[in-house]
Amino acid sequence: MPRRFDPLPKQDPFDKKAAARDAWRLFLRYGRPYLGSFLLAVGCLLVAGGLALSFPYFVGKLVDSAFTYKDLSRLNETLVLLVGILTVQAIFSFGRTYLINSIGEQLVADIREDLYAHLMRLSLNFFANRRVGELTSRISSDITVLQSGTTANLAEGLRQIIVLTGGVTLMFVTNARLSLILLSIIPFLVVAAAVFGKRIRRISTRVQDKLGEAAGILDESLSSIRTVQSFTNEEYEIQRYRTQIRGSLREAVRRALARGGFNAFIVFVLFNGIVLLLWLSGKQAIEGTMSVGQVTSFFLYTSVVGTALGAFTELSGEFNQTLGASRRVVELFGTPLEIADAADAQPLARVKGNVEFRDVVFAYPGRSDVPVLKNVSITARSGEVIALVGPSGAGKSTVISLIPRFYDVQSGSILVDGVDVRQCKLHDLRRHIGIVPQETTLFSGTIRENIAYGKLTATTEQVEAAAQAANAHDFIMAFPDGYGTLVGERGVKLSGGQRQRIAIARAILKNPEILILDEATSSLDSESEGLVQTALEALMRGRTTFVIAHRLSTVRNADRILVMEAGQIVESGTHERLLEQNGLYRKLYSLQFRELDEFSPSEL
Ligand code: ATP
Repeated sequence: MPRRFDPLPKQDPFDKKAAARDAWRLFLRYGRPYLGSFLLAVGCLLVAGGLALSFPYFVGKLVDSAFTYKDLSRLNETLVLLVGILTVQAIFSFGRTYLINSIGEQLVADIREDLYAHLMRLSLNFFANRRVGELTSRISSDITVLQSGTTANLAEGLRQIIVLTGGVTLMFVTNARLSLILLSIIPFLVVAAAVFGKRIRRISTRVQDKLGEAAGILDESLSSIRTVQSFTNEEYEIQRYRTQIRGSLREAVRRALARGGFNAFIVFVLFNGIVLLLWLSGKQAIEGTMSVGQVTSFFLYTSVVGTALGAFTELSGEFNQTLGASRRVVELFGTPLEIADAADAQPLARVKGNVEFRDVVFAYPGRSDVPVLKNVSITARSGEVIALVGPSGAGKSTVISLIPRFYDVQSGSILVDGVDVRQCKLHDLRRHIGIVPQETTLFSGTIRENIAYGKLTATTEQVEAAAQAANAHDFIMAFPDGYGTLVGERGVKLSGGQRQRIAIARAILKNPEILILDEATSSLDSESEGLVQTALEALMRGRTTFVIAHRLSTVRNADRILVMEAGQIVESGTHERLLEQNGLYRKLYSLQFRELDEFSPSEL
């Protein structure tokens, strides 16, 4: 996947030049394939615009035929000509609208697809610092703004440029002295557009930011609606959302004020200019220096130019919004892929499953001064089961998240079959690693689709065989729709144990050489734990496995247990050896044994 844009240096978000440059880059990058159609559209635009400009001229002729010359055949000829012009103009207008709109739609679809593909490859660290709702808002609302900017507004802008330049030229041809008066008001309009435009742009950015925040809250609270309702915090969430929406509303109202003031100023200056012109041309008609037809043409040109100037002021507001949106889109595109293939990355076709941590030091990117792992060394030979235990926050989850290279180490290295993971092709590396997480997230499709997520090309038989091995087949068949059962969003229609067995079936189907089990049986009752445990044992067979378990009973049979404390491995050995050592493991074990003994002795 080629990088679309280089990372952006930190810039003033209101820097119009930078914003325009970004919009231009975006447009060039994505517009290039449609250059041919675009030129054709501009051709149509020129013809249709030119014909529209001849309209006032011929209307003037029509008036003169009737009032100055009183000649019926001349009147009829002009009428036929006008109808002909309007017909051709309609055809070219159609071409222009169709071409510009379809180019805009394709361009925006291309940007959306690429932006999504880029997001899919960004590191977990990026997502840890963003809210999903905010990103969704960028892909949907910002790109929608871009869409109108590149379709309707672009076409309208081009059309108005043609109408304006053509209209002004023809006005000069009709009556140069009067035209100069109209042109003298243009500098006022330009200054007003610059002053108001800057203000509107600043406010627009704030409106979009607040809307983005609101989208973040919306996404967060809706996806955790269970937690919200169980804590009866609906009112709190409503208030949080309201604060952002009200904030964006306040800004949007200020923007409406600025726009209203701008429009009122333009209308006042422009229409006073036009009224003055009308008065002057009426005076010339009375003096006999202009014919009625010429006055009519001049009136029409004045209104064409006036309308074009008015449209420009509207467009400049929308153009500013487009700049803001394109800046945010380019910014996302420019986010570097922190975790990506090295230039000389090696393919990993086959893997035995030897994993080694060599003096690994690690801190999370956002907190680089807080070391989470300090000189961690682990050697796991192919097929071994390594258990990680230790108090909460010791760094167990961090250790396992480094194997699939969700993060890069600060110093030291992690090797798979002797190759540094930073030197492996990321896709290959992750293809050989299966993860059964603590909280299994399913996609809102059928059970079959969810299992097949482990291997998208799997046949129905393979899916069912994996479900059998994961002890899931029976409960799946007990549903009326069997494998076609819909699991609901994130799998809410299944129990925790059922979700976990589906996650295990997924991992079985993926058939990885290295397996990571993160507290896979933590939330289950004894019966489902038994079912999940046997499924896990089937899954672990012949694979290098890293297990994190708080329940020490589940890691008794591990080849090696690593006891972690404050980012270090403080003890290592088999269950029996560690008990003999009388250290932290024994302490944790007896603590748990006592607790469990009190409540449910059968668990150990
Ligand atoms: P538990 O048993 O409670 O799951 P753990 O041993 O798995 O704990 P980790 O999740 O590895 O512990 O966390 C180790 C430390 O790293 C903690 O202090 C935690 O606050 C910190 N940490 C974890 N994830 C991040 C993150 N994305 N950004 C910054 N710090 C993090």
